[in-house]
Amino acid sequence: MYIMVVNCGSSSLKFQLMAVPGEEVIAKGTVDRIGQNVAAQFLYATHGRQHAPAPMVAHDHTEAVKYVIEALTSGATAVLRAKEDIAAFGHRVVHGGEQFTASVIIDEAVLRCIEECCALAPLHNPANLAGIRACQQALPTAPNIAVFDTAFHQTMPPQAYHYALPYEYYQRDRIRRYGFHGTSHRYVTETYAALMQQPASAVNVVTCHLGNGSSLTAVLQGHSVDTSMGFTPLQGVIMGTRCGDIDPAVVFHLMTNDGLTAETINAVLNKKSGLLGFTGISSDMRDVQTAAAQGNQRALLALDMWAYGIAKYIAAYVAILPRTDAVIFTAGIGENSSEARALICAKAPGLGLALDADANASRGAARKISAPGSRIPVWVIPTNEELEIARETYELIA
Ligand code: AMP
Repeated sequence: MYIMVVNCGSSSLKFQLMAVPGEEVIAKGTVDRIGQNVAAQFLYATHGRQHAPAPMVAHDHTEAVKYVIEALTSGATAVLRAKEDIAAFGHRVVHGGEQFTASVIIDEAVLRCIEECCALAPLHNPANLAGIRACQQALPTAPNIAVFDTAFHQTMPPQAYHYALPYEYYQRDRIRRYGFHGTSHRYVTETYAALMQQPASAVNVVTCHLGNGSSLTAVLQGHSVDTSMGFTPLQGVIMGTRCGDIDPAVVFHLMTNDGLTAETINAVLNKKSGLLGFTGISSDMRDVQTAAAQGNQRALLALDMWAYGIAKYIAAYVAILPRTDAVIFTAGIGENSSEARALICAKAPGLGLALDADANASRGAARKISAPGSRIPVWVIPTNEELEIARETYELIA
């Protein structure tokens, strides 16, 4: 049986075709530049072999899905006998609001709820909806499943998710902390539990998803009880282009003193801040590390600020958990940068996180990287959000 995992952005569609329950990736790829009236870039691989079909224009997500399905079912690159071999589509949906605490099979009522959540994620949910509708149209008989970035965090208690604003802002506009990257935090938590041969409900961990976007989560007995991102993915630690936590009064100062509009400030805080804004070099951690190694003082300071902020979140989450079984690093930086991990651990001396230099320098699969004397074990667990979406989809249709 095959499941197609679909992740739609406003002008892109990423997919993975996975065999279940064996979890083998049969094909994966991306269609870019959807709706831009230029030739779409469609790249995909089947069984690890790369293909680049002739350029075509994808006016919308429906056409993009059609191209993908055609490529997978016809010609020399066919891996399916017919599109009906796709048993279900699993969609990444960014915002599920307070309605969705788990993945769901999509029906009309679910579609309406996802639409209502567009106000909370105006850049993401409309694209996710377009992807769902495109798949419904392409293959009306196959179920579509929504897997929400926010769902894992719906177990947070009110003391963690409320902001101290006038209460009617919550009642009227649902302004509160939601948290994101939930699929990744859940995946690494469950992978850690499986490695420990325990149920997820038996483990307490602090998960650190450190990529271009970054968030940390305190996981108590397998459930998220606090997370660093908030009402939007802007809150929390310093990211590639996002500022993370700042005093909200900075916004009013920029408006009244510098005459910046809300729209401009929104763009600055989301797209021109973080590592990029502070260093003026790049949003990419590798570039910032290279500049720091060459003695660039602002890059060196940016790394210190970045690691210090993350260390403070880890310390806070260790403090609120009755026991922490592991601190887990994942995503682009968390998985690949031994220097970044070492710097973070060094910024929290009170936690006693001691790394084993060789284990920290090693690469590959899930592994413990702390020294035997570390007060809390430290792990690297590569994330796999597509696999988590495929698993949750399979669970709902099996
Ligand atoms: P993600 O959003 O999870 O794809 O992560 C992207 C981030 O991971 C970028 O900032 C990359 O610079 C960073 N990254 C990937 N590989 C490495 C590496 N070997 N060392 C440092 N940062 C890395």
